[in-house]
Amino acid sequence: MAKLLEGSILASKIKEEIKLQVVSLKSKPVLASILVGDDASAAAYVKSQGKTAQGLGVIYKLHQLDKNITEGVLIDFILNLNADKTVNGIILQTPLPKTIDYKLVSECILPLKDVEGMHPLNMGKLFFGRANMVACTAGAVMELLNSTGVDLYGKEVVVVGHSEIVGKPLMLLLLEKFATVTVCHIGTSKAGKLEEHVKRAQVLIVAVGKANLIKGSWIKEGAIVIDVGINRVGDKIVGDVEFEVAQKHAAYITPVPGGVGPLTVTILMRNLLQAIKLQK
Ligand code: NDP
Repeated sequence: MAKLLEGSILASKIKEEIKLQVVSLKSKPVLASILVGDDASAAAYVKSQGKTAQGLGVIYKLHQLDKNITEGVLIDFILNLNADKTVNGIILQTPLPKTIDYKLVSECILPLKDVEGMHPLNMGKLFFGRANMVACTAGAVMELLNSTGVDLYGKEVVVVGHSEIVGKPLMLLLLEKFATVTVCHIGTSKAGKLEEHVKRAQVLIVAVGKANLIKGSWIKEGAIVIDVGINRVGDKIVGDVEFEVAQKHAAYITPVPGGVGPLTVTILMRNLLQAIKLQK
């Protein structure tokens, strides 16, 4: 039976390190969070960020903006936060109203304040192996892998999902560890090749958002399985991997909920401290 990789345990350890660093600073770190409109999932994420920030001694300044705000006004708002020397980090919550182009607006965040690691400059640095701040979910996955103590050098790693926030940054982070990385996506599934790739994965990372897409019987004996997916099925939250069967084959597996999720916000706060160092 697989060992559970619980994000909250690891998050607690990292939070202790963050707290120590925060008290050593001359002033409390300030994280500005922009929430446009009234999306329920974004509001829930904001609440969790605010709670984590408070526990770490970080000032979390929430800016709630009207859903009818124009792109231009939103960009001006961001530029003001960029110029504000008291602000160390900026997060633009998603989803944004459909009238706003996320890519265009988020690129206006100063790279040194981009605690989500999504600015093209930060992504570019990741490409060159010189990342300042890595996308939080990808960073959380790497922490979980690291916690197993398993060396990724030469391992067959399969990533399912190629989104800009999870799959793509992970691909680069894994290459830096000299893993042999295969990235699967909708094309892989449509070509009927997903099972074949998953079956040979010594390390499997799934970030799709489809409940039970990965059958438990596909998991290689002794594999490490990181399930990033979050899906609501009835009144339950489940991942993308058929957990009950998968845990019989894997050596390590993340539970959903309780795996990657609790770590993501912690990595965001760690990025904030990294931002402060860079701003100095
Ligand atoms: P996206 O929708 O941006 O990306 C999903 C990816 O899965 C795409 O690359 C898509 O390919 C691919 N995909 C879709 N269907 C299939 C399929 N049948 N077979 C193989 N690949 C497929 O989602 P995100 O990356 O933002 O999130 C993925 C999941 O992770 C979601 O459930 C989300 O809620 C969760 N999540 C969890 C976080 C956490 O902290 N725990 C943080 C962020 C996300 P294509 O684009 O080509 O269709």
